[in-house]
Amino acid sequence: MTEVSILTNLSPLAAESTNSPAATYADLHLYIDGEFIGVQQRRTLSVVDPGTGQAIGELPFADASDIARAVDAAHRAFGVWKRESPLVRSDILRKAAALIRERAHEIGCHITMDQGKPLHEAVAEVISSAEHLEWHAEEGRRIYGRVIPARSPDVQQTVLREPIGVCAAFSPWNFPFNQALRKLAAALAAGCTVVLKGPEESPSAIVALARIFHDSGLPPGCLNIVWGVPSEVSAQLIESPLVRKISFTGSVPVGKHLAALAGAQMKRMTMELGGHAPVIVCNDADVERAATMLASYKFRNAGQVCVSPTRFFVQRGVYERFIDRYLDEVKKIRVGYGLERGVTMGPLAHGRRVAEIENFVVDAKEHGAEIALGGARIYPAGNYFAPTVVLAPSNQTRLMNEEPFGPIVGIVPFDELDAVLAEANRLPFGLASYVFTTSIHNAHRISRELEAGMVNINHFGMGPAEIPFGGVKDSGFGSEGGTESFDGYLVTKFVTQLN
Ligand code: NAD
Repeated sequence: MTEVSILTNLSPLAAESTNSPAATYADLHLYIDGEFIGVQQRRTLSVVDPGTGQAIGELPFADASDIARAVDAAHRAFGVWKRESPLVRSDILRKAAALIRERAHEIGCHITMDQGKPLHEAVAEVISSAEHLEWHAEEGRRIYGRVIPARSPDVQQTVLREPIGVCAAFSPWNFPFNQALRKLAAALAAGCTVVLKGPEESPSAIVALARIFHDSGLPPGCLNIVWGVPSEVSAQLIESPLVRKISFTGSVPVGKHLAALAGAQMKRMTMELGGHAPVIVCNDADVERAATMLASYKFRNAGQVCVSPTRFFVQRGVYERFIDRYLDEVKKIRVGYGLERGVTMGPLAHGRRVAEIENFVVDAKEHGAEIALGGARIYPAGNYFAPTVVLAPSNQTRLMNEEPFGPIVGIVPFDELDAVLAEANRLPFGLASYVFTTSIHNAHRISRELEAGMVNINHFGMGPAEIPFGGVKDSGFGSEGGTESFDGYLVTKFVTQLN
């Protein structure tokens, strides 16, 4: 087993060794009806820095009356916001985007402190969110209805697309700013209002978003932020007759649970769930380029990414070359505290993910796979795990069946395209997929036959706001981004009039 390069002088309070202005962590609040609300008499949760294990903040939990107030406020605000002109809505969202850019560095520092990713990744997440918001601000002005020619000259037939109403949004901890922003951008641009429950363990990004929209002039009640025990908050929100739509990003089991609750109430849903992305590298690929690109992309955010490439299938003719280059590249990853200079991979967001990745390693070894790199936690404090490469895990291993959501990858050789397509499609997931080939024939065939919401050929192209981001099969339904973004937030009304 080889160890990757790790920072030897890891300091738990490494923030001091950067130029970061964020020596202190963010203030945490609820945000209801335009008001920031602190702890007062409420229950709280200690927010812990995953890089040090130290508590850095106290998050107030909403009680049932706070949640009811948030829904009422969103309902009242909807009556005003849905009638607001798209231009006015667009202007407010654009102001918010400008504030996101202005505050990106400080927000990024706080994300590193409560989520763990390196500062440059955190800042990039925030800045890319500004662009996402700007795109929705513009595209929201182009939500058009249509006129259908009638069978009689005295009849006028119109199709209207109207905002659905109050939305309950549940956003995850892996991209705490961007994942929440995606939901807010689509909902607010379409004329809906929102009650958002963010990730309790990494809350600073959500509070920053509330502050930004507040300072941009978003009317009170259009956005409300609540925190609490996830199952309690979601049950209350989904059961409320005033909530018309839910949007969730997270794991498949939780998504199915929430979908069942929402289905019982006949509520509209967008579900962005987990994945287990296959990567197919063909004999005719630019192998060194593929290996280099996949090394850094795989370990971005310590692999805690729903579109992370996780199951690599490399054609036999280039397998050895691919492995050699891939291992060389992974060894360059520098694991450490995210605010420390030079770090390219931070800790995992939670201790439970470290335990999970350890289980994947134990299981792979038991099934006879080779741990070519990493395979263990590192450093005495914090949730650090070495980037881990597993060679030739069988399709009986947990690694090749369950979403790992961490810094571990399995690489297996293949001979025939038929067999590898069947293996890639074997799992119930269908989110991202990746193909490396220079053959037009292979590219066409594989992209047609992969059961995935997104197919990336020879590059990673799922970032821009204008592309529809979403999955099929157990990975969910609905798109966040692209013109499809608004479909989940609009209802269709047909109006026919006899003159
Ligand atoms: P988890 O299943 O316990 O929670 C996943 C997310 O759902 C968390 O944000 C959690 O707060 C929320 N959640 C849990 N129960 C909920 C409920 N009843 N109502 C509303 N929200 C609820 O898993 P975890 O350990 O936090 O994360 C690991 C798993 O989550 C991964 O395996 C991955 O599949 C999934 N995940 C996916 C994404 C994504 O982008 N699709 C993001 C984060 C996590």
